[in-house]
Amino acid sequence: SQIGSSGFLAKTLPMRELLGQLREELLSSETGRDLTIHIGPMPDLTGDQTMVTQVFSNLLNNAVKYTRSVPSSYISVQGVQTENELIYSVTDNGIGIDMKQAGKVFELFQRLDSAASYEGYGVGLAIVKRILSRHKGKVWFESVLNQSTTFYVSFPSQIL
Ligand code: ATP
Ligand code: MG
Repeated sequence: SQIGSSGFLAKTLPMRELLGQLREELLSSETGRDLTIHIGPMPDLTGDQTMVTQVFSNLLNNAVKYTRSVPSSYISVQGVQTENELIYSVTDNGIGIDMKQAGKVFELFQRLDSAASYEGYGVGLAIVKRILSRHKGKVWFESVLNQSTTFYVSFPSQIL
């Protein structure tokens, strides 16, 4: 592993293994509901293991939480390698996000009215955004209210 110009310890992370572990943790804490977490293609990523784990943990936690009200929850995680970047996505079939309030979700301590009956502090996505900026990457999402939400994170393939 190497210390990059951004000052953190970057190594090639076994992404399939990392996601598989998060998946097991989530499934074992969410017993008694119909929940599927599908892991698709998962290219490896060079980055800080703690920070990258935090990103996927926060995104998956949201997907699990905001699908609690649907009878059959389906979450899908996958990644794709393009010429210059690695793009990962987390899709859920939960409550969705009103795109008119899109600017709010990455703000620290901001939560949408639609999240009022789900516990949380409005911290997770603000952290994701900070970590992506630290990795010179990006985070964005698309959503259809009451239908589905996909969060994307992209990391430059050459991080050092
Ligand atoms: P915390 O992550 O601190 O436990 P939180 O989940 O409310 O609390 P964030 O993860 O930062 O906070 O998300 C901010 C807000 O964005 C949420 O309160 C919710 O309104 C909305 N949100 C985030 N992810 C989803 C999702 N997958 N589906 C629907 N709404 C979401
Ligand atoms: Mg959250």
